[in-house]
Amino acid sequence: MDFTLSDEDRQLRDTVREFVEEVANPVWQQIEKDDRLPQAVIDRAKELGLFGLTIPPEYGGLGLSVVQKALVHEMLGRGPWGLASYVSVHTGIGCTGINLFGSKEQKERYLPKMASGEWLGCFGLTEPGAGSDAGNLQTRAERDGDQWVINGHKIFITNAPYAHHVLVFARAPKGISAFLVDTDTKGFQIGQVFDTLGHKGSAISELVFEDCRIPASNLVGEEGKGFDIAKRSLSEGRTMLSARSVGAAQKAMELAIEHGESRHTFGKALLDHQALAFRLAQMSARTEASRMLVYRCAWMLDQGSQAIRESSTAKFFCGEGLWQTVDDAIQMLGGYGYISHEYMIERIWRDARVVRVYDGSSEVQQILIAQRLRKGDVETHW
Ligand SMILES: Cc1cc2nc3c(=O)[nH]c(=O)nc-3n(C[C@H](O)[C@H](O)[C@H](O)COP(=O)(O)OP(=O)(O)OC[C@H]3O[C@@H](n4cnc5c(N)ncnc54)[C@H](O)[C@@H]3O)c2cc1C
Repeated sequence: MDFTLSDEDRQLRDTVREFVEEVANPVWQQIEKDDRLPQAVIDRAKELGLFGLTIPPEYGGLGLSVVQKALVHEMLGRGPWGLASYVSVHTGIGCTGINLFGSKEQKERYLPKMASGEWLGCFGLTEPGAGSDAGNLQTRAERDGDQWVINGHKIFITNAPYAHHVLVFARAPKGISAFLVDTDTKGFQIGQVFDTLGHKGSAISELVFEDCRIPASNLVGEEGKGFDIAKRSLSEGRTMLSARSVGAAQKAMELAIEHGESRHTFGKALLDHQALAFRLAQMSARTEASRMLVYRCAWMLDQGSQAIRESSTAKFFCGEGLWQTVDDAIQMLGGYGYISHEYMIERIWRDARVVRVYDGSSEVQQILIAQRLRKGDVETHW
């Protein structure tokens, strides 16, 4: 088995790592204070092509393999999650539907401007009464001549306040369907913008549709097939979120090592106390195991497998593992770990909490894993 990365992969990973460590991390406190990503950070991400990660080269994107995208997301995970979320919602769940199911006309209209970062995308699935149980969504789309008329309400939609358009899921006569709605369309408006525990800089908000009329040609894929588009979009997203969790866990561990070497108690460095050295070893073992799950899953996706159980396993294990590792790191920092806006570990803790909740919570992942196991998908053959 060969785990070697190509020179190109290594260069990609190192470039994004340098961007995160030298451009984004130095301004993390400013991002927290303003709840806004500095334009210089967004511009640098655009220069690096990060807004076109998932978009094919013919539409101006980087056209990366899934393994390469995972490398990028692992590095983004080392930085402020508002930035990671801004980029990954746009390039992931914001793009996949158009990439895989969009018409030629939709691809030509949206993808080049999304790849350059000129147009920001978002993904509107969750509703006040339909989160984990997204299939119960109540937003409606009725056909009226050569238009669709959308009515309903979405909630917690990342990037929406800054977005040019949303891929929205609504119940049409033939079932749940996906539609592209430009945010300047009459009848569409942004509702409440929420203040969140972490993820500063990437706003989440409500979307309100009141007799919002869009051209019939804005239906993405076939009418009634929208839920498949949503599931497909979320499935690759899970692997990317797992990669981001690995990056954050690695960063938390490095902060713990730095503090554990320099801080002394009872006449020796913290890490000279065996109990704390053991804790560090556990952080490392968990993070390494998580990383292996991510890259095996990414590799399987590159081979054309849907990796359904594997991506849920990665999301569940990496999300829970990150939470434990950040908590261990805070424990290593003692009181310093609990100080707001001064030590990065506290920000990582706030950012990391949500990974167990969104894109399919840890409970939902366990339900999916158990369902697959009961259908006979009990072992990964690769
Ligand atoms: C920062 C952030 C960004 C988001 N971005 C987006 C976005 O861009 N687009 C979008 O569409 N949505 C987005 N969401 C919504 C997110 O996907 C939902 O919050 C998530 O799916 C959970 O839904 P819910 O909040 O309604 O919780 P609920 O579904 O009400 O669940 C509440 C709790 O009950 C548990 N639970 C539910 N059912 C079961 C069960 N059968 N068995 C065991 N436990 C169960 C859940 O795991 C959870 O812990 C975002 C949310 C956040 C916080």
